[in-house]
Amino acid sequence: MAKLIGTENASRVIDNAVQLFGGRGVTRGSVVEQLYRDIRPSRIYEGASEVMKLVIARDLIS
Ligand SMILES: Cc1cc2nc3c(=O)[nH]c(=O)nc-3n(C[C@H](O)[C@H](O)[C@H](O)COP(=O)(O)OP(=O)(O)OC[C@H]3O[C@@H](n4cnc5c(N)ncnc54)[C@H](O)[C@@H]3O)c2cc1C
Repeated sequence: MAKLIGTENASRVIDNAVQLFGGRGVTRGSVVEQLYRDIRPSRIYEGASEVMKLVIARDLIS
């Protein structure tokens, strides 16, 4: 649950930062662009978010 919430929230925060920074937010080498690329895969590895939801749901209803 912590992994799902943490990575989804981190993605939302950095997505907002990219939007705030505009073109600079997607310019290769900028801090925000680097953070976006670093954080995005966290919703995939060590259990993709969709799979996390399935695992949590199964646990809650069992
Ligand atoms: C940067 C990075 C580092 C990694 N490091 C490691 C490592 O050190 N060791 C290691 O073993 N692996 C590592 N991986 C692999 C990682 O664990 C897998 O990428 C991850 O498990 C997802 O598997 P997949 O890439 O085959 O995607 P898939 O399983 O094909 O998933 C693709 C999409 O389909 C969705 N999906 C899949 N199954 C379901 C389902 N049943 N219901 C709904 N949606 C579903 C997923 O949520 C996702 O959105 C790494 C991956 C990345 C990106």
